[in-house]
Amino acid sequence: MSRESLLSDYMDRVVERSVGEDAFHQAVRHVAHDTITIEKANSDYAAAKVMERLSIPDRVIAFRVVWQDDRGETQVNQGWRVQYSNAIGPYKGGLRFHPAVSLSVLKFLGFEQTFKNALTSLPLGGGKGGSDFDPTGRSDAEIMRFCQAFMRELAPFIGPNRDVPAGDINVGSREIGWMFAVYKAHALEFTGALTGKGLSFGGSQIRTEATGYGLIYFVEAMLGEQGDDLSDKRVGISGKGNVATYAADKAIARGAKVVTLSDTSGVLVAEDGLDADTVAWVRAQKAAGKEIADPPSGCGATFKEGDMPWNEDLDVALPCATQNELDGDMARALIDGGVRLIAEGANMPLTDDAHDVVSEAGMLHAPGKASNAGGVAVSGLEMSQNSHRRFATADEVDAALKDIMRDIHARVIDDGRQGNHVDYVRGANIAGFRKVADAISSMGAI
Ligand code: NDP
Repeated sequence: MSRESLLSDYMDRVVERSVGEDAFHQAVRHVAHDTITIEKANSDYAAAKVMERLSIPDRVIAFRVVWQDDRGETQVNQGWRVQYSNAIGPYKGGLRFHPAVSLSVLKFLGFEQTFKNALTSLPLGGGKGGSDFDPTGRSDAEIMRFCQAFMRELAPFIGPNRDVPAGDINVGSREIGWMFAVYKAHALEFTGALTGKGLSFGGSQIRTEATGYGLIYFVEAMLGEQGDDLSDKRVGISGKGNVATYAADKAIARGAKVVTLSDTSGVLVAEDGLDADTVAWVRAQKAAGKEIADPPSGCGATFKEGDMPWNEDLDVALPCATQNELDGDMARALIDGGVRLIAEGANMPLTDDAHDVVSEAGMLHAPGKASNAGGVAVSGLEMSQNSHRRFATADEVDAALKDIMRDIHARVIDDGRQGNHVDYVRGANIAGFRKVADAISSMGAI
């Protein structure tokens, strides 16, 4: 049977079981495209039906979150935790609070997380959770009450050896602190059942910065493979959140010119590169729930309302905002503008169309499961610091993060090299899959 027929049969079954879950189908199709023939060629994987199993999460916990707003009115949201696969370790993955969160989105994120975590070489399974709660315009007290109510429902299902959530969109160390307090009260013990905690109660140095820093370490490894480096490269970054701003900081520190940051209302452009103070201002605006339309005078940046970064003059593109933010037309604009390297800070930021455009152009394209794995990697280090009752210094964690990102890069190019070209998407899919498939096929039919 050809790859196309295997893939189409497989996807028919996936879609039948999860009708309407488009984002989930998109993520599964991307991985299956590269792994379905690998499974077929390996009798252990084929006998264990690894891909069939991986199209269904271990379990989904769905719950109601009831909380009171500042006017005393009762509010009701939906919450989920998708415990996707614990084949290689406890479930691990972030919590996202955003009105666009749905079961389909969380299943796609949990699926991706399973392979990403495998790539880190740490003993971490995959999971993801969150709620359709929208923190925009809510007071701090309301967000705290929501976090507390959310964790009251989730606490019985997590634990340091079972499932260890972290942050994601709209969930930072402040929200993790509020949720950790509820977990701790529920469990009657102080154990590291959440990562991304504050430094004073078991958090790790560099966790907040890790995804953005790790992304830049990965990009440096990609450029290094081409005999190149970041200095003076014009880097376009989308998003203004955790991943985007720390990637910007690290890129600037490595000598690149960060030309853009953005949000849903538009893009901040600095032809000669943003400086670190302006990036810090963007981070502060985001933390305060404010827009970035009026940058500090003299910073050299202007705001283009309703625009995206991808029409600017760039060498490197780093989509760091959200899924499907970059479509086929934007990918064509990037290629026409001379960009030859895309590395994903966000999870699945390219639409299917954009994927095809980038792949046909032979661009270097790092998928999020490889290039944004730095966050979960440092979360893994936080778990091990908590277990060992020790506290690693910032230099130690940063050095470990660098090593992990270089190791992921090496593993990905091993499976992705095709003559002179490296297909990073294929390499990441295959390397992550092999690790999970080895574990699943070693454990029998259970
Ligand atoms: P944040 O909540 O800190 O920031 C997300 C930002 O992206 C927001 O400012 C939002 O803008 C902006 N945004 C959303 N949609 C768009 C869009 N279509 N165009 C431009 N900007 C947009 O999230 P994170 O930085 O934590 O996460 C970003 C991505 O990285 C997600 O895909 C996440 O899953 C992924 N990721 C995060 C990790 C982490 O450690 N935090 C780890 C690995 C992956 P606005 O303010 O206008 O809403």
